[in-house]
Amino acid sequence: MRVITNCKIVTPDEIIEDKALAFDGRISGIVSSIPGDATVINAGGGYVLPGFVDIHVHGGGGYDFLDSAPEAISNILKTHAKHGTTSLLATTLTCPDEILCRGIEAVGNAVQSGVEGGSELLGIHLEGPYFSSAAKGAQAITEQKLPDLDELENWRRLSKNHIVRIDAAPELPEMDVLAKWAKDNGVLASIGHSGANAETAIEYLGKGFTHITHLYCSTTTEHKEGQVVHGGIIEAAYLCDDFTVELIGDGKHIPKETMLLCFKIKGASKTALITDAMRAAGTDVQRSVLGESETGTPVMIEDGVAKLLDRSSFAGSVATMDVCFKTALRYGVPICDAAKSCSLTPAGIIGVADRKGSLEPGKDADILIFDSEFNLKKVFVRGNEIV
Ligand SMILES: [Zn+2]
Repeated sequence: MRVITNCKIVTPDEIIEDKALAFDGRISGIVSSIPGDATVINAGGGYVLPGFVDIHVHGGGGYDFLDSAPEAISNILKTHAKHGTTSLLATTLTCPDEILCRGIEAVGNAVQSGVEGGSELLGIHLEGPYFSSAAKGAQAITEQKLPDLDELENWRRLSKNHIVRIDAAPELPEMDVLAKWAKDNGVLASIGHSGANAETAIEYLGKGFTHITHLYCSTTTEHKEGQVVHGGIIEAAYLCDDFTVELIGDGKHIPKETMLLCFKIKGASKTALITDAMRAAGTDVQRSVLGESETGTPVMIEDGVAKLLDRSSFAGSVATMDVCFKTALRYGVPICDAAKSCSLTPAGIIGVADRKGSLEPGKDADILIFDSEFNLKKVFVRGNEIV
């Protein structure tokens, strides 16, 4: 048994002082007295938080999940763990079929076997490829692909049933095929890189698209179709309580007022912060590649964000979850809400809140210790000290 003392424990609703957090591989509880045989970890008056859960991340430490090699996957998990991410989904992007299949298979194998020494790999997030070329952002969409049951089933098999989430543009034809497949297989469907109007977004909420991919980035707002005005995905997100949303928390993609507006309307329980990090996260390179190393898109890192070389679009973030958390604090989001949006809320969105996302007894001991200025000092993944 280990016990963290001299700390402020951040729960979803309050900050608890003058108590200690007891754990082993799992959280034992918040305790008033320290058991005699416990190993004491003195937090020096700092904060104790649940580990961050990143449900949208492509890579880091110089690697992308689509590189597929075990050392690439292991390096990404280690890089993000050092910055407070204790579990994550491996996100793919639109790319040639054989690269995508290879990536899905490699990540599926890694989930199956488990990878030690870094963030826990919870499954696969397919960002695409059924996207609208009108809202592609930095996704390399060369031909319009439409949902195909055989293709979806092939990916599911390759992944060893570890696809957790798929993002698509619901206005495209054949989207009911995807909606049904996602529902049948317990896969979270999310609206992303989409030109849908509010009516279509809400129609597909009813068909199981309950989440919205990086709200404000490659999503629509009110607009005209011909001479008729329509709401967009953003209005649908705010109007319908059943939508959860995610915001890229790097401090570059979303301005302060927009993040605060989202927290004001949706609340921390419906708003997840994500990195959407590409391979340059956790490095200091100025040139990099978005996607797989051979076939991906060349990008530059400038002003702390990845951009296409012609600067026509951002190309993912280079942030880690500690940066997202601190961005929210800097913007004025209260500590408990910022922590919740980095942990319990994303855990709930992908269905792992029974074992991740808060410091409740019985949950995995995914624990972060920060000093009083919110510099990350220690990271535990299922009780194992990473940093
Ligand atoms: Zn992404």
